[in-house]
Amino acid sequence: MAISITEPETASNYFIPGDWSFYTRAEKTEGGWIVNGMKHFISNGNRASTYMLFAQTEKGKPLHQGSTCFILKRDTPGFTIGRVHNKMGERLANNAELIFQDCFIPDEDVIGEVNKGFQVLVDFLPASNAYAAASVLGNAQTAYERSVEWAKTRNQGGKLLIEHDGIRAQLAEMHMMIDVARTYIRKATWMADNRDTVPWDPALGALPKVYASQAAWQIATWASEIHGGSGFMIDIGMEKLMRDAAAFLHSDGVNRTLLLKAANFIFED
Ligand SMILES: Cc1cc2nc3c(=O)[nH]c(=O)nc-3n(C[C@H](O)[C@H](O)[C@H](O)COP(=O)(O)OP(=O)(O)OC[C@H]3O[C@@H](n4cnc5c(N)ncnc54)[C@H](O)[C@@H]3O)c2cc1C
Repeated sequence: MAISITEPETASNYFIPGDWSFYTRAEKTEGGWIVNGMKHFISNGNRASTYMLFAQTEKGKPLHQGSTCFILKRDTPGFTIGRVHNKMGERLANNAELIFQDCFIPDEDVIGEVNKGFQVLVDFLPASNAYAAASVLGNAQTAYERSVEWAKTRNQGGKLLIEHDGIRAQLAEMHMMIDVARTYIRKATWMADNRDTVPWDPALGALPKVYASQAAWQIATWASEIHGGSGFMIDIGMEKLMRDAAAFLHSDGVNRTLLLKAANFIFED
């Protein structure tokens, strides 16, 4: 499965309702829809067998009022995979362009209601945010554990690195940031699971990934420094953790965009 939302022209915009629409459009025909357009940066785009696809179904309406979510099967005539993007991190998870030229999608493959695609996004993105936050937390945990291991075996200045106050304090800070990120993710997922009894805070659909990815990026760069010159050497593995952490500053919404989205919930009248 691949989730196909982002387009070259309509990207951060789909996180925040406004006067913009998708360029990929689906026009009604007998028994279904004809889709034309393109998406890019789509995770698993070149490997998936099924795609969730968001397209504009009502011309002249903003996407939060005139877009629809469809299921598209890989073998649909007119559907092709474009470039596979050459990413700096998460290199085993491919991202690709998707191209639609007169693709027919039957009516039964509409998800939710026609012109209510934004609602599908609203329902889907909080779960995706928590999932991304938990993924990047694993990256931070590895960087931290590898740093503790290194500090317990590397001896400089007459003692192990872990016995130097500066290093000890930094490791404690890394430990704290991981704990805070994990607690925040648990709060969001627990509240999502208990919506019947606890009012859901919609800002939690955006913020856990922001915090976890910023923490992971900070922790990965500190981990590299704790490894000294070795941290810069590819075979030690810290540079991979830095590259992979960087992916989460951008994916599932750029952090600044997610903060803006959360601000709209926090400060709404
Ligand atoms: C690793 C990875 C995986 C991804 N996987 C998927 C996927 O599976 N499916 C999918 O659909 N997309 C996917 N994306 C796309 C991702 O969601 C977009 O890259 C992201 O939404 C930002 O779009 P953009 O890159 O065009 O940046 P832009 O929207 O051009 O943003 C550029 C900068 O401007 C800022 N900005 C934008 N709007 C505003 C505003 N109103 N106010 C202030 N600042 C603003 C942004 O925060 C950002 O810093 C993936 C991206 C990456 C890197």
